[in-house]
Amino acid sequence: MRFRVSQELRQAVGAEFAMELQAHSLILDDEVALSGLKGDARLLRTDRGLLVTARARASLRGSCSRCLAPQESPIEISFEEEFIPVVDPISGRHITPQEAENNFVIDEELMLDMGEALRQYALMSRPSKPLCRPDCQGLCPTCGANLNQGACSCEPGDDERWRALAAYRSQDQKGS
Ligand SMILES: [Zn+2]
Ligand SMILES: [Zn+2]
Repeated sequence: MRFRVSQELRQAVGAEFAMELQAHSLILDDEVALSGLKGDARLLRTDRGLLVTARARASLRGSCSRCLAPQESPIEISFEEEFIPVVDPISGRHITPQEAENNFVIDEELMLDMGEALRQYALMSRPSKPLCRPDCQGLCPTCGANLNQGACSCEPGDDERWRALAAYRSQDQKGS
């Protein structure tokens, strides 16, 4: 999601602009993607670049943390970040290495990449343990069967025996 901001960067400090954000899909990492992203952004010309205030909603496509089934959850992304041009079109000032490291950068062609900022903030605000449904039964730890589709044929009570053994072991360690 790249926007040409050559006009915006040629305005005086304090000038404001609005822009619509829309993306059919946005890959976040190997496991998660966003779909149906919609939102808006306000751009403010600063002495260094453009201060972007963005707000968007999207659907996060990932997998259930218990049963691994495909799962979608609504997500809200909002951020305020200053984007600094590699070279300022008015002053001709070059970005310092420190600024380049700590800020989002507008490239030599004066393209601002909103996708990268949205990607980073979406990853930060995604649920840590997404579930396909609140009462997901998960997978059987022994045979891997999806317990949402019914009980597997593993011995009931396996779990309790392991827990008893684990408790016994931790007591043993305390004693020594
Ligand atoms: Zn699940
Ligand atoms: Zn099983």
